[in-house]
Amino acid sequence: MTPKAAARPIETAPENAHGFSLPDAEVPELEFAGIRAQYAALKDGIAPRIAEVFRHGRFIMGPEIEALEAALCTFCGAREAVAVSSGTDALVAPLMALGVGPGDAVFVPSFTFTATAEVALLLGAAPVFVDVGERSFNIDPDDLRRRIAQIRADGALTPKAVIAVDLFGLPADYEALAAIAGEEDLSLIGDAAQSFGGRRGNRNVGTLAPVTTTSFYPAKPLGCYGDGGAVFTDDSGMADRLRSIRAHGQGSVQYAVERVGLNARLDSLQAAVLLGKLPAFEGEVAARNRLADRYDAGLGDVVSTPFRPDGCVSAWAQYSILVDDRDGVRARLAEAGIPTAVYYPAPMHLQPAYRDHGAGEGSLPVSEALCSRVLSLPMHAYMQDEAADRVIEAVRAAVG
Ligand SMILES: *Cc1c(COP(=O)(O)O)cnc(C)c1O
Repeated sequence: MTPKAAARPIETAPENAHGFSLPDAEVPELEFAGIRAQYAALKDGIAPRIAEVFRHGRFIMGPEIEALEAALCTFCGAREAVAVSSGTDALVAPLMALGVGPGDAVFVPSFTFTATAEVALLLGAAPVFVDVGERSFNIDPDDLRRRIAQIRADGALTPKAVIAVDLFGLPADYEALAAIAGEEDLSLIGDAAQSFGGRRGNRNVGTLAPVTTTSFYPAKPLGCYGDGGAVFTDDSGMADRLRSIRAHGQGSVQYAVERVGLNARLDSLQAAVLLGKLPAFEGEVAARNRLADRYDAGLGDVVSTPFRPDGCVSAWAQYSILVDDRDGVRARLAEAGIPTAVYYPAPMHLQPAYRDHGAGEGSLPVSEALCSRVLSLPMHAYMQDEAADRVIEAVRAAVG
């Protein structure tokens, strides 16, 4: 029998004032979303906050929740922030607060993550898929007008809300969308799961729509270490309803149940992680933008690079190029050690779960075409220039 290997000594970070330490991260040379590189950079700010939650023991609705909500408001300029358990709950809660339900139409882009459409169906409403702009990848206001007119002409559903998505981090055209929502008496929700940290003109994401939602899923621009999300609004009545809905519809006294709600609170631990990360976030968004500039300069002559409209700052959840022979390009990049991802391989209106609500193949041509060509490259705030240049060289070789 071979003797057991001697136990390796456990390396620990120097203890902080709370006597609490986190392990070191093993950081791969080229990470797709930089989660471990970020952790290595920020863990000394995160660890004491986690330790503090263990010390006070209020894991649900601890003081970190209010502190985070205040810090998020300061960051983006919204009057109210309501922390919730995910970006999906951040979407479903305002729809519940607006009374969206059976017989209602909720207009959503087809080129998005499933959650945007899922929340309408969860409430018994119908998602109505809208095409996106060829360059912005965001909901196309002209197509939105057409689809609203169709739904009104059909007469079976009542147009109730539109959920715009800031795909890959670029804010949608909220001026045009607000005008349509006003004319058509629709509620406008901004799904900013990918764009928190971005800006349109002199306004931050979080203030661009009457209600804005975001996600703190780990790989989002501002991510926690689990699931999390938030809703932003200037409407204090809406914020009150959201705070009730996230806690089972509770009223002003405990166990008073005023409405049907959800269990959709953010954990104190996740709020602590976010409070530890927030001081670095503005610098991270700037670093993501510098990486996007570097990719643009290195790739703009060989592939279609992302649209950068004047006055908009993307949070760069993804840096997505358009290529022909995507699978071939992806395979060659994988061989060169470059991780990539496909967001999204199919538009929502062609997914089995939504087949009854889509108008079939060919009905949203831009979304369909983009899904066959889009390819996302490594994007995060901690990528070294040499690594970015390796990505650029590999992409040039792969499409060449
Ligand atoms: C990630 C994402 C969501 C859902 O967020 P979760 O926190 O994963 O529930 C919703 N919409 C979009 C556009 C997303 O990218």
